[in-house]
Amino acid sequence: MFKLPLVNLVFLALTGITLAHPTAQQNTSTFVPASTRSTLRRDPSSTTSGLATVYTSCINKGQVAVTFDDGPYIYMKEISDQLTQHGAKGTFFVNGNNYGCIYSDDNVARIRYALSQGHEIASHTWSHPHLTELTSNQVKSELTRINDALRKTLGIIPRFMRPPYGEYNDEVRKVANSLGQSVVIWDQDSGDSDGYDMKYQKSIYKDFVSRNPKASGTAIFLNHETHDTTAHELLPYAIQQLQSAGYQLVALSVCLGIDPYLSQGAPSKKDSTWKC
Ligand SMILES: [Zn+2]
Repeated sequence: MFKLPLVNLVFLALTGITLAHPTAQQNTSTFVPASTRSTLRRDPSSTTSGLATVYTSCINKGQVAVTFDDGPYIYMKEISDQLTQHGAKGTFFVNGNNYGCIYSDDNVARIRYALSQGHEIASHTWSHPHLTELTSNQVKSELTRINDALRKTLGIIPRFMRPPYGEYNDEVRKVANSLGQSVVIWDQDSGDSDGYDMKYQKSIYKDFVSRNPKASGTAIFLNHETHDTTAHELLPYAIQQLQSAGYQLVALSVCLGIDPYLSQGAPSKKDSTWKC
């Protein structure tokens, strides 16, 4: 049973209207920008409108992207390992300076480890602001600063950018597009950072599987790697539920059919610019 009409999310995605943190339980959206339906693997961000494409759902049925925001943080390695042990891949939307500085030795080791395990790293902005309250220049700084950090520490520039709180407008889309990036939201929110109890968080996965049995659906799940309970209770349950129903847990780029990085090279050597 659907609690929110599908049209809400599609409408917001199509219009680019500011998305106040979407209510946790949402339906699997089928919104796929027309420009990307038949030509995967090309750059989807260079839209003629000058606005970055906004993805709210995956494309490939039977595949789901389990995503983790707000790190890097202390549970990243455990989350990576759990996924790896189950033949699964995850996607981490990381900040530059949120729970800690991305340039710290610990955090550099964490993101390098996750990447080395085949998980994907994407942008969640530098400092986790409300992007819709910033000027264009400030938005640009938020996006380029985290991109620079990921280029220096990992050698990658991410294509996918998730705005904090899911909030974006045309200015945000314009800036993202100018950097070649796409905006990625979600269609299933575990509610792990909204104060919901574990029963509710698990129900998001259980209900998704009930509504979409036998790998008949697709979804982008929102979680936060900064919660002990997400790493140790929710994730094991999510993996079990999804895999029992035949779902493949894949990196975001796989279920979107789009390359995850604008460029990939060697990381730089640590220098005095590695600071927050
Ligand atoms: Zn966040």
